Amino acid sequence: RLYNEVIELKGNIRVFCRCRPLNQAEITNGSSSVVEFDSSQENELQIVSSDSSKRQFKFDFVFKPEDNQEAVFAQTKPIVTSVLDGYNVCIFAYGQTGTGKTFTMEGTPENRGVNYRTLEELFHISKDRTGVMRYELFVSMLEVYNEKIRDLLVENSNQPSKKLEIKHAAEGNQEVPGLIEARVYTTEEVWELLKSGAKARSVGSTNANELSSRSHCLLRVTVKGENLINGHKTKSHLWLVDLAGSERVGKIEVEGERLKESQFINKSLSALGDVISALASKSGHVPYRNSKLTHMLQSSLELLGTWVVENLNTFLVLLTIPIGGDCKTLMFVQISPNSGDLGETLCSLNFASRVR
Ligand code: ADP
Ligand code: MG
Repeated sequence: RLYNEVIELKGNIRVFCRCRPLNQAEITNGSSSVVEFDSSQENELQIVSSDSSKRQFKFDFVFKPEDNQEAVFAQTKPIVTSVLDGYNVCIFAYGQTGTGKTFTMEGTPENRGVNYRTLEELFHISKDRTGVMRYELFVSMLEVYNEKIRDLLVENSNQPSKKLEIKHAAEGNQEVPGLIEARVYTTEEVWELLKSGAKARSVGSTNANELSSRSHCLLRVTVKGENLINGHKTKSHLWLVDLAGSERVGKIEVEGERLKESQFINKSLSALGDVISALASKSGHVPYRNSKLTHMLQSSLELLGTWVVENLNTFLVLLTIPIGGDCKTLMFVQISPNSGDLGETLCSLNFASRVR
């Protein structure tokens, strides 16, 4: 493959849907799946409601419960690797807690996810391009919880933990001064870093799952590239984001500390929607600074370019293809097949079908 091969994508935003399998507890309870797949269509699914009515959803790709991590990465690979061609790339995993956001992004030691596989592939391609391109890869990992930014690689280093804030650097880029950028050379190193970052994410909480459902986890890969033939240099970012659970306030907690957390989560997820809507409507003001999440991703999101909006009143109603811009965005909408989760599943599918 050529070092400057431009990967052909229809537009700059993709939505993939992934449905997890029914788990043991659901099977024991006799739950059945409300999600139906068409074996001949790899981009459609149907949701069967209790009155047997069916609703169809279409995405760029739909992963069935039996699709493994390799199958998911095979579709994701062209998007993530475009960071080596100077594109900024942003990947989000969106969905209710327990639907597999962390499984898709982080994975398990036996079933490694998009994060690890991406770095592995970046090393692979940069080796293939030896003599033509020189790359340096850096990894940062941070958590946004209650609008506070925490560096997840601090514990692994000898540096004291600092209060992190987003600063505007030259060219409208956002920087987080003091954020650790670990230079990585091998896949083993990457795996150790990702493990220690994931461990740091759960430190200080009695229940790791509970905290992760309320915080966003962001992995940033910085790629510095130099074309050895013409001397052209690029620097681009790949963001791999495991979002907080999308479940609505009221369903889980309505009081005290938990309510505050839910409000912060809703604030950042709805700010993300507002930013995409504003980009879409070509309105002059894009409210990036309404949350830490969107502020941090500003330079990636603003490159999305111009969008056509179908209906501005609805949350995140985007229909078409961005014109120009050098950022690629992929959203994984994660769903549960369990009939008990039907309401949340429909919310997530509606949210995601408007992004396309
Ligand atoms: P989330 O991050 O959205 O809260 P998790 O990734 O923690 O959800 O997934 C919840 C549970 O379901 C985990 O035990 C995970 O290993 C399992 N799981 C999720 N998706 C899949 C899948 N596609 N195949 C097998 N197990 C899955
Ligand atoms: Mg999770």
